[in-house]
Amino acid sequence: MSHQNQSFDTRSIHVGETPDFSEGSKNEVVAPIYLSSTYARKEVKNPGQFQYSRSSNPTRFALEKRYASLEQAKYGLGFASGLAAEALLLFTLLKPGDHVVGFDDLYGGTKRLLNQWKEKYKITVSLVDATNSQLVEEAILPETKLIWLETPTNPLLKVCDIAAISEIAHRHNVLVIVDNTFLSPYFQNPTVLGADIVVHSVTKYIAGHSDVIGGAIMLNDTALYEELKFNQNALGVVPSPFDCYLTLRGLKTLSLRMDKHQSNALAIAGYLENHPKVTRVYYPGLPSHPQYELNLKQTKGFGGMISFEIKGGEKEAVQFLESLDLFTLAESLGGVESLIEHPALMTHSSITQKEREQAGIKDSLIRVSIGVEDKTDLINDLEQAFNQI
Ligand SMILES: *Cc1c(COP(=O)(O)O)cnc(C)c1O
Repeated sequence: MSHQNQSFDTRSIHVGETPDFSEGSKNEVVAPIYLSSTYARKEVKNPGQFQYSRSSNPTRFALEKRYASLEQAKYGLGFASGLAAEALLLFTLLKPGDHVVGFDDLYGGTKRLLNQWKEKYKITVSLVDATNSQLVEEAILPETKLIWLETPTNPLLKVCDIAAISEIAHRHNVLVIVDNTFLSPYFQNPTVLGADIVVHSVTKYIAGHSDVIGGAIMLNDTALYEELKFNQNALGVVPSPFDCYLTLRGLKTLSLRMDKHQSNALAIAGYLENHPKVTRVYYPGLPSHPQYELNLKQTKGFGGMISFEIKGGEKEAVQFLESLDLFTLAESLGGVESLIEHPALMTHSSITQKEREQAGIKDSLIRVSIGVEDKTDLINDLEQAFNQI
């Protein structure tokens, strides 16, 4: 069945899991978990579609088809984690002497990877405030190979112009990678806006239930896809069949979840913005957000991530976080349950204090991943915790 003209909601349920009546044994509605590590062949010279599960596995194959479809890209690849996908991109695309331009508010693990890579492999990296596309263009050198974006960013929810930066990059023969974890393919499709490669931490919204670590890459270029697929097998950074099954299952409710994450987040961002113990709220769905218009233009939504600065500093932030009952104090994001954390002491502790200060990650900053619980229960919990400081 061709899914091309179907809407996102339909594709997120059916692509890769269409019953196949032509082969009697494949009429199941849900793709099975194929645990076999190896596959038999009848003839020595005729390997068939599957040979060894590191190279290809039927459950992963179904998931990779769905990844491509949901990002409106030609190809999808699955990985053992978001960072495995990112490491594979660096390994495949860069050689000594190359230069990378990155958003200065990139995910902490991405910065750590770039930092370690650059010393060992003689790569240079310039991190710039990509909310200003001109700063990105000014950072491009003759040896620039790729531009690494994330929008909205983590944790400050800064938004950059994917179409404008892709246009600049392509004029300079530079590739654009967008980490699309925060909005998921439901709200934003970077390849449609001109980016070359999309990368996801599947761990977050795509799998959606805080029970999978996974990564994905989606792209349109056939030669590049072949190279990445070759290295996916060569490095062995593949997801397990069980994780692929959980991800296929999670994806079926992606649109339902994202809509609820967003309506809850809009209500809570409004509540926080009016709270006397909050000095600043970062959420692209608030008209006060500096790139509100740009985000509206390039996405179908704002997502479920909010950051805010609490009045005071680290002491007040910690006291507030430890007073919450319903919000779980934990790293990660994008699951059905609301999570909250302190970037400077938790997710972003792997980058130096100096880098954090430069990026504007203060000790009073709190990041929230709004879940799909009832919004009144969530607001009541925030209110009782504010009352304790
Ligand atoms: C979590 C995350 C990653 C890393 O993904 P893992 O699945 O944890 O390896 C990369 N980018 C962003 C934006 C993330 O939130």
